Amino acid sequence: MNGLSARRDAIKAITEYKTLYAPLDFSETSPTEVFGCNVFNDCVMRDRLPKNVYKSLKKTIELGEKLDASVADIVANAMKDWAIEKGATHFTHVFYPLTGLTAEKHDSFLVPDGKGSAIAEFSGKMLIQGEPDASSFPSGGLRATFEARGYTAWDVTSPAYILENPNGTFLCIPTAFVSWTGEALDKKTPLLRSMQALNKQAKRVLKIFGVETKLPVICYAGPEQEYFLIDRNFVFARPDLLIAGRTLFGAKPPKGQEFEDQYFGVIPRRVLSFMMEVDRELFKLGVPVKTRHNEVAPSQFEIAPIYEQGNLATDHNQLIMTVLRSVAKRYGMVCLLHEKPFAGINGSGKHLNYSIGNDEVGCLFDPGDTPHENAQFLVFCAAAIRALHKYGPLLRATVASASNDHRLGANEAPPAIMSVYLGEQLTDVFGQIKKGEVKGSKKKGVMNIGIDTLPPLPLDPGDRNRTSPFAFTGNRFEFRAVGSSMSIAGSQVALNTMMAESLDYVATELEKATAGKPDKLNAAVQGLLQKIMLEHDAVVFNGDGYSEEWHKEAARRGLANLKTTPEALSQLSAPSTIDLFTKYGVLTEAELRSREEIYLEQYCKSIETEANLMVRIATTIIFPAAFRYQNELAQACANLKAIGKEYGTTTLDQLTTNLRAMQKVTYELQTLVEGGKGDSAHTQATFYCNTILPAMREVRKHADLLETIIADDLWVLPSYMEMLFIR
Ligand code: ADP
Ligand code: MG
Repeated sequence: MNGLSARRDAIKAITEYKTLYAPLDFSETSPTEVFGCNVFNDCVMRDRLPKNVYKSLKKTIELGEKLDASVADIVANAMKDWAIEKGATHFTHVFYPLTGLTAEKHDSFLVPDGKGSAIAEFSGKMLIQGEPDASSFPSGGLRATFEARGYTAWDVTSPAYILENPNGTFLCIPTAFVSWTGEALDKKTPLLRSMQALNKQAKRVLKIFGVETKLPVICYAGPEQEYFLIDRNFVFARPDLLIAGRTLFGAKPPKGQEFEDQYFGVIPRRVLSFMMEVDRELFKLGVPVKTRHNEVAPSQFEIAPIYEQGNLATDHNQLIMTVLRSVAKRYGMVCLLHEKPFAGINGSGKHLNYSIGNDEVGCLFDPGDTPHENAQFLVFCAAAIRALHKYGPLLRATVASASNDHRLGANEAPPAIMSVYLGEQLTDVFGQIKKGEVKGSKKKGVMNIGIDTLPPLPLDPGDRNRTSPFAFTGNRFEFRAVGSSMSIAGSQVALNTMMAESLDYVATELEKATAGKPDKLNAAVQGLLQKIMLEHDAVVFNGDGYSEEWHKEAARRGLANLKTTPEALSQLSAPSTIDLFTKYGVLTEAELRSREEIYLEQYCKSIETEANLMVRIATTIIFPAAFRYQNELAQACANLKAIGKEYGTTTLDQLTTNLRAMQKVTYELQTLVEGGKGDSAHTQATFYCNTILPAMREVRKHADLLETIIADDLWVLPSYMEMLFIR
């Protein structure tokens, strides 16, 4: 397929797409009937489980108490009956390996009964534990191949659900994935561990403020997911999009091609149909999707759910990505979750809205209505500032990947320097605290009062700074550096653990200062907040994070700027990281080192694939097009010469020069990829970063220039203009 026929087919597809399912008529089916209809949720459990079993399970889910083994068989049985009524024949332990993907292995409910027939079986043991062969998943040396067995363990806090397929349905059970010696091989295990650490330290701080809560303090996450939709005809005609998920070549459209959204403000019809079906599918799975809209770039969109408990939000975000991909196909499109599918066009991220709290104590990043709550809020907020200052580079490492490197630090996404945006008012309050003269909120005039009598802080959530990687937005922090294709688990693991360490520090200091003297709390809080701001406010920055001055200023303040993945990943084995994670029981040193190794390997593999792909496309698609056009031009020149009308050969010269230059650098790239790469994962990654990527940029430079010279009908790769504007 080439560009021309892809263009024709894409245009046809736009008008001819068919919806697979008839649109739901909400006047007949109420949305509440649809929401969660495929989830083994609280209602279903209450209906189907004996009272005592239900109570015991609820305790495990809500209070994090150990699961009573005798309960598992009964739950499994109820779950099986429910699933079979919904047409399921198989069940799967869903897990989240370090590739960032979602993995599943299906097992049938049916077992032969020895009499030539079969019965449906699903025991407590099968619910609680699975044994997928772990050898094909990266373990970073944690496990030798002969110990290939890993096991999956039921995560009671994330409900089971049914996935539909036109050919039937199956039951999905969210699980943690560990080696047989108990080491985490996945993204969920450390997330659950980090939530435990956070809970313990947050409770100590709350206790000092006289707040007791039975429920664990948890993290909340609300991820806003960006993505591109491209007609699949274009993708089939572009091996780079098909294999690497991003364009390795592609000239910028001529100036004047407006990339401004107002031009395209209305969601295209096919896209809207797609969105409606996505929403419905996610509703059935109990994912509380809320908003959908156009994004900055043409053909770029966003979907965002209402925030949930961090672990559940993480599983749901994985489901969102799966559903986006599969529903797009039904409409003849491909959903691109790559962080930078098109050079020069805005990339896609995932804003992770993060806060901590629970149903009893509310959101701890919410200023609250009373002065007392305000003081407590300031303590949690200061703990976050301290955490970011101490462990910003670690947080940066959690979003390091080959694809996200194209985005971070470009003038569209927050830079790789981790700073905190507080907004004018909160900055003012903390500024006063730092000087030791708390007078009150800026607009309220000067009052010489203690923290306990600070007026309520009506923080303006509209107060936004889009250039900050970590921005306070009223009742949460918005971490904006996560890549669109990434799991949101890693960043939460870091945030929870960093917060736990800071809250531990805060609790220890306040416990010391108030031991036996509870009336000293006010003074102790003031003193501590002042100390934290004196030591850590270098991380606070409210200005333009994209500006050159900030890069210089950040260096002066001693903030790290880890521009590339190899640099950033070193943080995973830094002594400060190992101390932090081992102290709070989140990851062992071996687990951390294995993660660094795996992520470095992934980095190398993805760049190696792209480099090879680049050489292949150059050799088999671009050079032939160039030769053909060269031939035509040469023929035209010869013809003109024959009739005495020769007038120079500018285009032919330009083409020939660029083609030769491109052949040269392509050959160099090929030689580099085939040649030595260094032996440790780290030297290899550095080689790909510092040698291969620049060589790839050289190849692309020439190719993109050729695209602007060569006749459109010979250039078989669909252009940026076509891909982004035909939808
Ligand atoms: P915006 O684009 O203005 O940032 P959106 O409505 O697109 O806002 O997304 C905001 C996200 O933040 C939603 O997922 C929302 O549920 C989530 N959110 C709101 N409050 C909190 C909170 N306290 N903790 C975590 N996430 C939150
Ligand atoms: Mg948004």
